[in-house]
Amino acid sequence: MIITQKKPIEELMAMLEGVTKVALVGCGNCATACQTGGQPEMQAMTEYLATQGIEVVGTVYPDECCHKLLVKRDLKAIKDTGYEAIICMACGDGTQTVADNVKVPVYPANNTLFLGQVERVGMFNEYCKMCGDCVLGSTGGICPITKCAKSLVNGPCGGQKNGKCEVNPENDCAWIMIYKRLEATGQLDKLSQTRKDKSYANVAYPRHINLREKK
Ligand code: SF4
Ligand code: SF4
Repeated sequence: MIITQKKPIEELMAMLEGVTKVALVGCGNCATACQTGGQPEMQAMTEYLATQGIEVVGTVYPDECCHKLLVKRDLKAIKDTGYEAIICMACGDGTQTVADNVKVPVYPANNTLFLGQVERVGMFNEYCKMCGDCVLGSTGGICPITKCAKSLVNGPCGGQKNGKCEVNPENDCAWIMIYKRLEATGQLDKLSQTRKDKSYANVAYPRHINLREKK
């Protein structure tokens, strides 16, 4: 799930300077789970903007705001409402997907933080940085790119104290976790395997995949 957090409202209001009519776009998927772009948040935004002299003339709530065709279809329903700008209450992907479909400014209501595991309602943990070259098979299923503050792939830096990371002592040292997991699963031999230096060649932005081409 893509984890988002509301921007400070002053930042959003600064972007909206001079705008009197807006449309809101939420997201029925990740932003709803993050409580940043669901229907309650859209309602709260509508009420807040009214106190600031900004009228919400249209709202759109696609199942997924990062889905181009869904967004295009849903935006058609509000095309004649007279909005001067759009506030997108989804992630950065969703915001750009909206912007691809309209000819007015589109402003993000949220900051997009990370790809996260949902631990329970309202609790999210970063697990994967989408490096494009997964090494989980040799690290006991624990990601050293994400869980180690230095993204080290061949063992610890040596700075841990009492099992905690020297960079952020609130976090467990990733490599101690990896050692314990490999030990518990009878795979300690994998620690002696040298992993190739991480190649970020696969992470040349922006990335594209076309499954149709591969068929
Ligand atoms: S190595 Fe880590 S960051 Fe890379 S794909 Fe695997 S889990 Fe994601
Ligand atoms: S203490 Fe552990 S988690 Fe922190 S940077 Fe060093 S190896 Fe990585």
